[in-house]
Amino acid sequence: MTRSLVAGGAGFVGSHLVEALVASGRQVVVADNLCTGRRENLARLGAQIEFLEVDISDEEAFGSAARGQFDEIFNLACPASPIDYLRLPIQTMMVGSMGVKNTLDLALANNARYLLASTSEVYGDPQVHPQPETYVGHVNPIGPRSVYDEAKRFGEAMTASYHREFGLDAKIIRIFNTFGPRMRVEDGRAIPNFIHQALEGLQITVAGDGLQTRSICYVDDLVEGIISMMNSDSQGPINLGNPEEISMLDLAQWIRDLTGSESDIAFIPRPVDDPQVRKPDISEAKRVLGWEPRTSAETGLKHTIDDFKLHA
Ligand code: UDP
Repeated sequence: MTRSLVAGGAGFVGSHLVEALVASGRQVVVADNLCTGRRENLARLGAQIEFLEVDISDEEAFGSAARGQFDEIFNLACPASPIDYLRLPIQTMMVGSMGVKNTLDLALANNARYLLASTSEVYGDPQVHPQPETYVGHVNPIGPRSVYDEAKRFGEAMTASYHREFGLDAKIIRIFNTFGPRMRVEDGRAIPNFIHQALEGLQITVAGDGLQTRSICYVDDLVEGIISMMNSDSQGPINLGNPEEISMLDLAQWIRDLTGSESDIAFIPRPVDDPQVRKPDISEAKRVLGWEPRTSAETGLKHTIDDFKLHA
């Protein structure tokens, strides 16, 4: 039986991945320090998984916690929403550097396949649209977002180096905006904020003029892409996301309609270095993995709204 380690498995994307891995018959160990993840995200799996509460940036603690042979390591451990990584700047840079190194070392010792969850943020505020994997980005190395962007870029460099230096089967995916059930309201991203505000009758906070765009992918589609990448011979990097692009103002109005809310829209200041546009070119994912998203934004948003209503 394949034994998988999922670092960051108690988070939003991580917990959906863990469920899919368990369903595919794998034995799954989760490592998470719960800085943004939650135990209850894994509650329904009960004793089907092993949970290690550990910080992968801490070499000694991680080394003694992660015991036994692993066949594959998925590294999704990192605060991923702007609010979280701005609140945890040093931790974010440590997990993106030492955390990546420690998990790569474990993969090397186990001769395991390795997958780094990187991000569309490596493209920064892109000057090429949509973004293909060959685009090297437009990133501010010292701005507030750099704690995330540069840590992820460093993590990619480290992962690519382990492949080149040691021949490790180390893969990189770049995840674009993803949404779905179990997003935390407090994580402050546009979709959970808009849904929460619309359901509670609060003002819906649109940053700037709301004309900036994102392309939004439903979490189940993303998880399929992650597993296909791990099963493939490719090292990537490969963009995983849904090219369905929408402006934040349109998204706010759409969520207001889908929830039947009468909330007003309030315009708030734009965060520093907030990318103006973002849309993945997924030709590589289609060509190499035969993967593309299957869930429309409307279906995904309806599932997510139902989940938020359930947990309100
Ligand atoms: N945004 C917004 N209102 C909010 C939260 C975010 O208009 O309450 C905007 C944000 O400025 C950005 C876009 O929505 O332009 C997506 O932000 P999010 O935090 O979801 O993720 P990002 O893509 O920036 O990592």
